[in-house]
Order: sequence, then structure tokens, then C-alpha cells
Amino acid sequence: MAGYNIASLARLVEQFERMPGIGHKSAQRLAFHVLAMSDAQAKQFAETILAAHDNIKQCERCCNLSEEALCPICKNDARDKSVICVVEDPRDVMAFERTHEFDGTYHVLHGVISPMNGVGPEDITIKELLARLSDGTVQEVIMATNPTVEGERGGRSDGDVYFAAFKADGHHGQPACLRCAGRRRSRVC
Ligand SMILES: [Zn+2]
Repeated sequence: MAGYNIASLARLVEQFERMPGIGHKSAQRLAFHVLAMSDAQAKQFAETILAAHDNIKQCERCCNLSEEALCPICKNDARDKSVICVVEDPRDVMAFERTHEFDGTYHVLHGVISPMNGVGPEDITIKELLARLSDGTVQEVIMATNPTVEGERGGRSDGDVYFAAFKADGHHGQPACLRCAGRRRSRVC
């Protein structure tokens, strides 16, 4: 006997199941929620997803998410462009911004170096970070990345890699905070 199957519903459940933290039951619940929407609501939902995909790109300077060439933080003249806080993920920027305590700029790596997972410096935005350090504007780099298992095993953290690159690039200013080296900068860390 053929199984009970409504193909469009099954495909919708499958899409939700691909989302992080969503199991089959939750996916089914969300799919039925979508089915219960009016045509207008469903259209708006679908268009919102497409618009987010189409409109959001990476800031040309800091690689944070942005709808324009430069993100609102990089465009803001009140932000201190001599300070860069290096984070792994755009969500880290949101977390810092919620504190209203940091008036510098960010650099979003979009990941961490992870030899065990085949992620090298070329796979994240280190090249873009080094480019920002080359014009003499930046005086302070704050590492707000998490130490990784690979970094611990390798005897150095991602922060050490970046800091070494920073110094090698001809800059001699000492960051007031380098989390991986155990130094702290109040207000931020
Ligand atoms: Zn930016």
C-alpha cells in the first residue's frame, strides 16, 4: 500500500528540517503554520526571505552584513576608525552593539581558522583585515574571538595569528586588549 504523502507538504517540512535545531516534529508544526497562513501572508513571508537574500551583502570594509556598500557602523563618522574589534560572526557585532559601550569599528571574520575542519586563513576574511591595517589608520586591534581547540593544540590561538600579522605589517602600536594574550580592555571585554 502506498504511503500517505502530500508532496508539497513533504517538501515544506523538509525545508524546515534543514534549519539548525529543527527536528521533524518542529518542522511539521512550522509547515502546518505556513499552510494556515492566508495567501497574502504566505506571499509576504516568501518575499521577505528572497528580499533578505537579495539585499544583504558584506560591507566592503568590515565584512559585516550590510544592505549598502558600507555598513551603518563604517559609514558613521562618530565611530572611532582607529580601533577594530575582530569578531567571528555578524551576531557578535549585534551583541556588542546592544551594550552601547563600544565606539570603534569591527571586522567580521565569518569563521575561525580550524585545521581539523580544513578551514585556513584564506577561507575567512583575514586578507581584508590586513588590507585595513595597511593604511596607518588603525591603531588598536581588539581580538574578540573565542580560543579554539585547534588553537590550543597548536600552541597558539587565532588571535596570535592575527596579531603576528598585525606586527609583521609594520605596525608597532600595542593593542590595549588582546584577549588571547590575557590582556583586557575595560568597557569591551
Ligand atoms: Zn562595515
